[in-house]
Amino acid sequence: MTKGIAASPGYAAGPVFRLQEAELTTPRHTIAADGAEQEWTALQEALERSKADVRATIQRVAEQVGAEESAIFESHLMILDDPTLADDIRAEIVANGKNAAWAVDEVFGKHEALFAALDDPYLKERASDFRDLKKRVLRHLLGIAEATLESLNEAVVLVAYDLTPSDTARLNPQTIKGIITEIGGTTSHTAILARNLQIPAVVGCPEITKLLATGDLVALDGCSGEVICHPTPAQLQAYQEKQAAFRAEKERWQASAKALAVTADGRRIEVAANIGSPAEVKAALEHGAEAIGLFRSEFLFLERDTLPDEEEQFAAYRQVAAEMAGRPVIIRTLDIGGDKQAPALPLEKELNPFLGLRAIRLCLEQKALFLTQLRAILRASHYGKLRIMFPMIATEAELTQALAVLEEAKAALRREGVPFDEQIETGVMIEVPSAAIIADKLAPYVDFFSIGSNDLIQYTFAADRMNQKVGYLYDPGHPAILRLIKQVVEHAAAHGIWVGVCGEMAGVPEFAKALIGMGVQELSMTASLIPRIKHEIMQGRYREWAEQVRQAL
Ligand code: PEP
Ligand code: MG
Repeated sequence: MTKGIAASPGYAAGPVFRLQEAELTTPRHTIAADGAEQEWTALQEALERSKADVRATIQRVAEQVGAEESAIFESHLMILDDPTLADDIRAEIVANGKNAAWAVDEVFGKHEALFAALDDPYLKERASDFRDLKKRVLRHLLGIAEATLESLNEAVVLVAYDLTPSDTARLNPQTIKGIITEIGGTTSHTAILARNLQIPAVVGCPEITKLLATGDLVALDGCSGEVICHPTPAQLQAYQEKQAAFRAEKERWQASAKALAVTADGRRIEVAANIGSPAEVKAALEHGAEAIGLFRSEFLFLERDTLPDEEEQFAAYRQVAAEMAGRPVIIRTLDIGGDKQAPALPLEKELNPFLGLRAIRLCLEQKALFLTQLRAILRASHYGKLRIMFPMIATEAELTQALAVLEEAKAALRREGVPFDEQIETGVMIEVPSAAIIADKLAPYVDFFSIGSNDLIQYTFAADRMNQKVGYLYDPGHPAILRLIKQVVEHAAAHGIWVGVCGEMAGVPEFAKALIGMGVQELSMTASLIPRIKHEIMQGRYREWAEQVRQAL
């Protein structure tokens, strides 16, 4: 048995189809000055053909999978349309005398390397988008046909060194039972697409292309990342049965998705979705989200060289407010800094960025930036039910300062006669241990708390949430965390405000039950986890869970 990273849940077993990449060796030669225009024309044609491919992919994915998934390829189109990229390639051809394929290799390769070197796992994965596009443009330049994936009509498990997002979008879920790749991570576009296509997948599986060839048998577990090469007939059958049971269970969960989440003994829990952009609202509603419990507003600030102005932010927040049609939406103010860098906001390099100038600390330092965002949120609040939440609050003083800036933004809008929701609720994200400890001091200022358990755990155990080596410390069920959460809930109750949890633990059934047992009233999670959690809530009893955590504590 070997092990990779679980990227898309489910089980698969069967014969392997080993995807052999057509070797793309880039011819490199210098060209005479009078040959440059010819190379440039060839390149422009290759770019146009590539764009046509991407447009066709967008349409196909939009029809077969969904608009949210096709948006991945909109970003490919934007890259191909980027005039600076074309200028850079032209410069390599005209000024440096390189043939077109070499120039493409250089320029796309540079962007690929730039993203691959980043720490943020999401941004790091963007390298694969450039790799994907580089191959596409080179194929058109060199006249090499794409590997045929659509025409695979036997049930197989696809094994590849790497699978580009474009490859994945061409897979037919009817025939592709599973995917195993040697490289890649859970936030790669390939992994996201596999989850949405509901194809079980394991990525980052070491040496897998050396271990398996076309026709070999394999079994994979997309929930744990386990891969069995050359399984016995009994193992093969066991995995096929697991997949059938998994499917049946998912159908049962889906049946609970649209119902209101109420425990068998009558306790109502609001089940909400975490989103990172307006494009995710549709999927959130389809999975049964009753609210947006966390809108990570950073998306507007990443991967671009200019700051979004008030209008652009307003449009994005209003879109979410309108699409949620009166259901609550919690917009978290900017959580930039730490590992999340916005190119338009150059920050000083810090020795400990996670303990440095991030989130509310940065917003209080750069007040104009903060005011712009708050004005945009307030204006959008006129179009739906928005709530404002401040991230990384550590002290009472930070909270009162943040609220003062909010009052300033409100006063300006009133003066300008711009409508906004005067009753807009505010909340504190409880994700720094000090905030949990002084929750009684913070509660009187706000309408709710939302516990960011991802960071709360990281900071409580002083263990980097991304560092596998200290992963053993990252334990949401540890009494240290449960006690902190319990205390937050008690202080909130004493002041008559409600508490939600928007960290990953909210979407894990055993922890969701413990949180409800402690008195948490709202759980917000990745949309696809909602049906399962709602199902568990409706099957269980609050009083039993309360008793269980009481004993555990
Ligand atoms: C958290 O810290 O739990 C959280 C939800 O925020 P993020 O994961 O964006 O830091
Ligand atoms: Mg956080």
